[in-house]
Order: sequence, then C-alpha cells, then structure tokens
Amino acid sequence: MDHFSYQNGNLFAENVKIETIAKKIGTPVYIYSKATFIEHFQKMQRAFSEIDTTICYSVKACGNINILKFMAQAGSGFDIVSGGELFRVQQAGGDTSKTVFAGVGKTDNEIIDAMNAGIGYFNIESQEELENLITIAEKQGKKTKAALRINPDVQYKTHAYITTGVKETKFGVDIEHAINIFDKYAGNKNVNLCAVHVHLGSGGKTIEPYVNAVKKILPVIDELRTCGHKVEMLDLGGGYGADYESDTVPSAQQYADGIVPLLKDRKLKLILEPGKSICANAGILLSRIIYTKQGGSKNFAIVDAGMNDLIRPSLYDAFHFIWPAKVNEEFVPSQREKDFQLDGTEIYDVVGPICEGADFLAKDRALPPVKRDDLLAVFTAGAYGFTMSSNYNARCRAAEVLVDGENFSIIRKRETYEDLIALEK
Ligand SMILES: *Cc1c(COP(=O)(O)O)cnc(C)c1O
Repeated sequence: MDHFSYQNGNLFAENVKIETIAKKIGTPVYIYSKATFIEHFQKMQRAFSEIDTTICYSVKACGNINILKFMAQAGSGFDIVSGGELFRVQQAGGDTSKTVFAGVGKTDNEIIDAMNAGIGYFNIESQEELENLITIAEKQGKKTKAALRINPDVQYKTHAYITTGVKETKFGVDIEHAINIFDKYAGNKNVNLCAVHVHLGSGGKTIEPYVNAVKKILPVIDELRTCGHKVEMLDLGGGYGADYESDTVPSAQQYADGIVPLLKDRKLKLILEPGKSICANAGILLSRIIYTKQGGSKNFAIVDAGMNDLIRPSLYDAFHFIWPAKVNEEFVPSQREKDFQLDGTEIYDVVGPICEGADFLAKDRALPPVKRDDLLAVFTAGAYGFTMSSNYNARCRAAEVLVDGENFSIIRKRETYEDLIALEK
C-alpha cells in the first residue's frame, strides 16, 4: 500500500532511512514517497481505462507545488476549491483545462481568475452561484463550462463532519431542483452547463455508496437528455478510501469493477477527484519524543508535533497508526491497525506540546517501550496533514521532504520565527 517499511528494525521511506532525514532536517517533518503517489495514481488510471476517464487529483489533500508538478507530469488533472489552489496548479505547470473548480463559496475574483486561466469547468453548488457565473461570463465576454453538483442523498458511515452527499449538508442541490436548473439555464451561450457532479464525502470503506450514487444519478441524466439537454460528463468526485489501517478499503480496481459497467456505452466522460486515496499513504509525519511521563495509570509520550501540525485526530477522531522509527526486530509491526499490540508493548497517549486538551495524536495506543529522544512515525499522514496545519501557539510549520528512490529533498523549508511575524510590519 505504500513505500514505508522496516528493514532490520529501521523505518525507511523508499530507500532512505528515516533517521537520516531526521538528523539532517530535524522534526517535526512531513516525509512523502513519490513512488507511492505515482503508484496510487496509476492504479486508478489503469482501473478506469476501459472508459474515457480524467483523474483530477484533489489539491486540498496535499498541495505542495513540487507534488503537483510530478502529478501533472504523470498526467493528472486537478480538483481545486479556491483561487489559492488555482495559483498552486498554475505555479506547478498543471494543465488548467484539466482543472475543475468546486466549492460552495467561490468569490467573483476567484471565478474571474479561473475563467481567465481556462479551467475545464466549474462545479456549481447552487442556483445563485450559476446565475452569478453567467453574469460574470457575459460581462467578461468569456465562454466556460459548468457541472451541476447534485446531491444523490446517499448515506454512509463516516464522521458527521465529512459526510457531504446527503440532503442536509451545504453542498450541491437535490435531484428535483437539478432538473429545474438545467431547464432554466442549460441553453446559456456563455456558460455551457454540460455535466453533473457528485461528491459523496470522505472515508467510505465500501464501494456501495458510489454504485448507489451512480444508479441514482443515471436516471437523472437520462431525464435531462430526454428534455434535450447535453450531458457530456459525470464527475464522481473523490472520497475513495485510504488504508489508514492495513487493507481495510476497496482497491481502485474494486471501485472500477462496481462503477465502470454502469457507465459503459452511456456516452459519458468520467471525471474522478481522488485526494486521500492517492496521497494519504504517501506521507508520514515524523516527530521526536520530548518527554515521557505517567499520569495516574497512563503513560504519556509528549512529542514535538501537535494538533497544529496534524489536526485530524482532534478534529475528526481520525486514526493514525503510530510506531517508533527504530525498533528491535521483535517489535517490527506486521500490520497497521487500531488494536495492534505485541508482547512487551505498553499503552500510551501520544500528545503534542500545545496548550489544549484536544492536542493529541493518539489515545490508549500500544507502543514498544519508548524514551525521550526516540522518533515516532505517524503513518498515513499525507492527506489533510500539512495542508491543514497552522501556526497556533506561534509554532513554525513543519518542513516537507520528498523521497524519490535513494534521494530526498526539502520541498518546503521549515518555517522560522521570522516567517511567523513577516506580515506583521
Ligand atoms: C475534498 C474533495 C475531494 C477529495 O476528497 P478525498 O476524500 O481526499 O478523496 C474531491 N472533490 C471535492 C469536490 C472535494 O471537496
């Protein structure tokens, strides 16, 4: 599932020993494996190759421009949700015609910039947004394309904050509304409303929600076509699972096996917007233990990475497997899972240095005996890790390092105290 593995008790990213990176760059540091990104991307490409598919990697999951650059070279398009992400794609030399723009609150300036950049299409989240897009396009004398985000109202089991495909969220419009919007606006000369977008949210562990969404959306597309509307593309969004625990989510092939047969011979281009399924396993957050202590019956490992570096455990109750970067042979983990333990492990809370009770990376987790100065690797931290990080507690954001085979390079420098106040003049 990725290229982080133990050799003789030492954790490696591809062919680079993690300890070497820590010595040279310090901690906390995000370490990415290029091969893992490319492998996940190509697996998805191959799985969906039977139908005309464009993969638009979701920038918000992990958007360093060096990463976007090699993703673009590998043939990826991009899914963006802000003007800042558009800028990142442009700086990385990404193909803007293969870039799609979602988000419920696009501002006029963001819309104008994206139109001028010639993006593939706008994913429209409301009637008012579409009306505004039309007004802007007419005023600017520009032509652009749009996909209407439809809420298929399928539920699945994930955290409430990352469910987006049901009626009671702020995203998209419901099916009844969608038909009216096409009837009213699809003939516009400046904005070609020619696609349907669905994005279910994140974290599903089965293919059923996708299969059900496609089954619910195809009749809508049929109805739209019967009414004389062109529907050229179906954008199925992102949210495909990532293995936070070993082998717990469907493979790209399994998603394709469920989805492709439904879309064959439907004269629909397919767009996919994977984020975490490409990048989650491609990154770890490496931290060093500052202190250990006991509180009541609990062991604490206090590390130099906190919720400002990785907020997912505090925000979503997310699970990240954590293990020392160097262990005796008997403590090499055979898999990454919630209840993984071995003879001799002890139960720890892994917490950060920030002045908040919610500042933890893991609770009640079995770890081999650890001590001050040991390195702890927080696995599957490539998605929504660095991109959600902040300067809270006036902490400098972590460095980002990219490993490629035997080599590694800094792709984002560690921030300095000067960076913290640079805009406060
Ligand atoms: C966040 C997002 C994605 C990516 O989600 P993942 O769970 O990382 O795959 C794709 N499309 C849209 C519209 C998004 O908002």
